[in-house]
Amino acid sequence: MPTQTRAPRGERGGCPGPVGTARRRPRKRKKAGGLRAAAGELPARPDEPREVGKRPDTDGPAEPAEEAEKPAGLSRRQRRNRQKRQRQQEPPAGSDGERGSGPGPPDPPGSAEAAPEPRSGRSAALRARMEERLLGARFRYLNQQLYTGSSRDAARLFRADPAAFHLYHRGFERQVRRWPERPVQRIVRYLRRRPASLVVADFGCGDCTLAASVRNQVHCFDLVPLSPRVTVCDMAKVPLAAESVDVAVFCLALMGTNLQEILGEANRVLKLGGTLMVAEVASRFEDIHAFLKAMTQLGFRTVSKDLSSSYFYLLEFAKKGPARPGPAPGLRLRPCLYKRR
Ligand code: SAH
Repeated sequence: MPTQTRAPRGERGGCPGPVGTARRRPRKRKKAGGLRAAAGELPARPDEPREVGKRPDTDGPAEPAEEAEKPAGLSRRQRRNRQKRQRQQEPPAGSDGERGSGPGPPDPPGSAEAAPEPRSGRSAALRARMEERLLGARFRYLNQQLYTGSSRDAARLFRADPAAFHLYHRGFERQVRRWPERPVQRIVRYLRRRPASLVVADFGCGDCTLAASVRNQVHCFDLVPLSPRVTVCDMAKVPLAAESVDVAVFCLALMGTNLQEILGEANRVLKLGGTLMVAEVASRFEDIHAFLKAMTQLGFRTVSKDLSSSYFYLLEFAKKGPARPGPAPGLRLRPCLYKRR
């Protein structure tokens, strides 16, 4: 498997998906290296070993990428004024093809004008900021539900509120776009090197990028159909016959707490000797060795592991038999949680 290039210094990994966080209150600057323990984050120097641990000031490893753009050495007021000036110089939302397409609400009307904002412009700006905060809060809530509940809870949540699913996906897209490489592209490249006759199951397929990028037959499973190819279901129970697929894929999709059940389902549908590909946020792994050991109990042999990226790990397994019953204590992934900033 090709080696993943390290992202340039200053780029941030972290869990996909923050939304509505573009104009948070500035935080105190941390000492150099203070964020380093954050899994998913780059060490200060590329050659420095990265600690996979918990960041001291957050519940989890996420570090929204906007933080990287924070100007150093300015007071809170100076930063606020500077941001305001920058906003006034930016083109209006949507004019560059990216702005306005992200998860946050569009920029307030009039923000492109250099003249002092009229009163109505100010209140519109305030309203837009409030809306953005509300979206951010909603995203954080949603994200927490997904990572701290079972896959069944996630299915219930999105069934009850499909709009929430779209909000989550806009946030996911926005974050992953900032990564040096999308994990799904690694899986696309992997599949293109293997016979197109292999049947694939994509657990948590999102917008079906994988299916759209390879010649293989791909069964796409997700909670809400972002594409007509999607079969809507909980990934812990997919409508496939036992031993019917050659490759099972979980690309940033191991979100539910019932990991053993979910991976057990992948084992059920995989043919003996079939491949399981897992791409997951690096910072989520508490103990990668314990995780790999637990996978043997679930009937999988590790074929290759690419731990070189600060953003995500890419693991390849082969099914060597059915999952053995009993708990697999090493099978733990940290949730990606965001604190209000
Ligand atoms: N694999 C895609 C999308 C990753 S986002 C990519 O890499 O681009 C994670 C996806 O997993 C989301 O689309 C989410 O809806 C889906 N997901 C989370 N829990 C799920 C569950 N219990 N059953 C099915 N899909 C689930």
